[in-house]
Amino acid sequence: MIDMHVHSRFSPDTEESMERQCRLALACGLEGLCFTEHWDIDETSLGAGHYDRDGYFAEIDRCRSLFGKQLRILSGVEFSEPQNHPKELAYARTLPYDFLLGATHYFCGGRFPPELLKAGVSAAEMYGAYWEEMRRMAACGGVDCVAHLDLPKRYYRCLQYTVAEAKEILSLLIEQGIVIEINTSAFANGFKEAHPADALLQLYKDCGGREVTVGTDSHWADERSIAGYLAEGYKKAAQFGLAVRRYV
Ligand SMILES: [Zn+2]
Ligand SMILES: [Zn+2]
Repeated sequence: MIDMHVHSRFSPDTEESMERQCRLALACGLEGLCFTEHWDIDETSLGAGHYDRDGYFAEIDRCRSLFGKQLRILSGVEFSEPQNHPKELAYARTLPYDFLLGATHYFCGGRFPPELLKAGVSAAEMYGAYWEEMRRMAACGGVDCVAHLDLPKRYYRCLQYTVAEAKEILSLLIEQGIVIEINTSAFANGFKEAHPADALLQLYKDCGGREVTVGTDSHWADERSIAGYLAEGYKKAAQFGLAVRRYV
């Protein structure tokens, strides 16, 4: 198994080291992992100005020299709102990433779902804005994979969508050659299903989706998140007859 969504201190929301994440992946018997640090551009986002690309690639090289014989260490990025940053996205595509993960974290006035929740924005209004952003992101293309398709449920603890809008987004992604991710952080947050939920995985399959990636979105070297939940994600892929796409 390869964990295609791992963070380290190059992301603004953790201080974990790449080396520790690699050691844990090895201890858990993984074939490899991909460091997908947050690249946030909007000034209102948590990670604005944080991303140190040169430091990141230097640390990837150092970890490859330490563990490269036993572990596949992929370089990736979790690029926030690619639909709003075409110039930066085009630049990202010139960098030596193995894997570009696109995500929508900030919307409805550049806010993260917990802020929207705190501000009293209803689930209906929030999801309306979120799916519209996801539709724009799917139409924009330019990434390999879409992270945590139904992310707001992590905070709102409910999921709302219409089948028509979900199908439109999923079909656009498939047309663009973009796969979706089975993000197992939902299991770690007490859900019985991943991001996205089973019903959305089924719709993806119905729309012609064939492949996914699987990632824990692990921000800390937590044995449970890698060893346990990653395997659950692989099981989900198999349950829906979806192949896990490889980038190595
Ligand atoms: Zn994310
Ligand atoms: Zn992430």
